[in-house]
Amino acid sequence: MDFSWSEEQTSMREQAYKFGKEVVAPRSAEMDEKEELDWEAWKQAAEFGFQGMVVPQKYGGLDLDPLTICITMEGLGHGSRDVGFVTSLGAHMVICEIPIVEAGTEAQKEKYLPKLVSGEWVGGYGQTEPGAGSDVAGMTAKAEKKGDCWILNGSKTFITNGPIGDVFVVLATIDKSLGHKGITAFIVESSFEGFKRGRKLEKMGMRASPTGELIFEDCVVPEENVLGEVGKGFKVGMSTLVWERATMLPALVGISEARLEEAVRYAKNRVQFGQPIAAFQEIQHKLANMKMHLELYKTIFYRVAWMKSQGMPATLEASVAKLFFGEVSRQDALDAFQIHGGYGYMKEYPIERDVRDCIANTLGGGTSEIQRSIIARELLKMYD
Ligand SMILES: Cc1cc2nc3c(=O)[nH]c(=O)nc-3n(C[C@H](O)[C@H](O)[C@H](O)COP(=O)(O)OP(=O)(O)OC[C@H]3O[C@@H](n4cnc5c(N)ncnc54)[C@H](O)[C@@H]3O)c2cc1C
Repeated sequence: MDFSWSEEQTSMREQAYKFGKEVVAPRSAEMDEKEELDWEAWKQAAEFGFQGMVVPQKYGGLDLDPLTICITMEGLGHGSRDVGFVTSLGAHMVICEIPIVEAGTEAQKEKYLPKLVSGEWVGGYGQTEPGAGSDVAGMTAKAEKKGDCWILNGSKTFITNGPIGDVFVVLATIDKSLGHKGITAFIVESSFEGFKRGRKLEKMGMRASPTGELIFEDCVVPEENVLGEVGKGFKVGMSTLVWERATMLPALVGISEARLEEAVRYAKNRVQFGQPIAAFQEIQHKLANMKMHLELYKTIFYRVAWMKSQGMPATLEASVAKLFFGEVSRQDALDAFQIHGGYGYMKEYPIERDVRDCIANTLGGGTSEIQRSIIARELLKMYD
């Protein structure tokens, strides 16, 4: 087993780290405060190629393999320490572009991918509804065929990039009684007749990533915008969520690394009882636990990404990674917060934002409970 990185992977991580540090990090706190995406960083990210990492070169992308994307996203998170920015980028690149790359027709790829890669268009993914979160098959957004168009009615909520997106991969049902077999994926442009943005939602954390509602009122979607086959949207959605776990979350692993580095520095500099608090075993053990977790996050996410690079589904492994990271990284953030004492509660230290951002690690892309259900389902298939 070879754990070394190629020259390309090492270079991409270093460049992504530098980009995060120099371009994203300086305005992270301000964007969190304003609850806005950093458009300047967005533009520069597109010039770097981030928005096109998953896209074939034919459509302007970098066509990187999943392991290289994982390592690059980790570098970006490490340098930027900005969950908001990497979440908006991830929603655009992973859960909007990947379904188009995987299930799109040639005409769809030619129409949408170049503009998404260049950053001119912002992408998003609309699955969750006010009444259907974990229970995806319970969605009620309806698609009805009328002539050579589909008419969408219903709404979506919690949609990353909802308030700013130009193109969304949207799941809707053609017949609710068919359950997941009725779900169909569509590519919906914000300029389509009947598309409306609902509320922009105020969040506890990840505030530099705009989140909102999408409303479809007799929204007219041309037939050629069905993504994949009619009735096969659930499969598109589930595959997309595995990709999310494999390639979006590594950015948050990079953020965990930045948090650990800062906690070590703080512990070495903060003096109490005549010595740095880093001298106290309680503090050392918190730092040691954080390091142990970081190494495990990396190992498991690299393996998931490697499996995706080999064309394996990695359904179980991606859920194990998401579950472990989601739950344990929250505790890491709280430990780092505790090391900062009262200063950690003040906005002048980035740990205050980290704690708010981290709380959602057990929610987005499937809750911890749902990850456990997926793992159990896969396990039950494995042993007679
Ligand atoms: C910041 C953020 C960004 C997001 N971005 C997007 C996006 O871009 N696109 C999108 O479509 N969605 C997005 N989501 C939505 C996200 O995927 C959902 O929040 C998530 O799937 C859970 O759905 P829910 O919030 O409706 O919770 P619910 O499904 O109502 O769950 C509530 C609680 O019940 C538990 N529960 C539910 N069912 C079961 C079960 N069968 N067994 C055990 N426990 C269960 C859940 O685990 C949870 O603890 C985002 C969410 C957040 C917070």
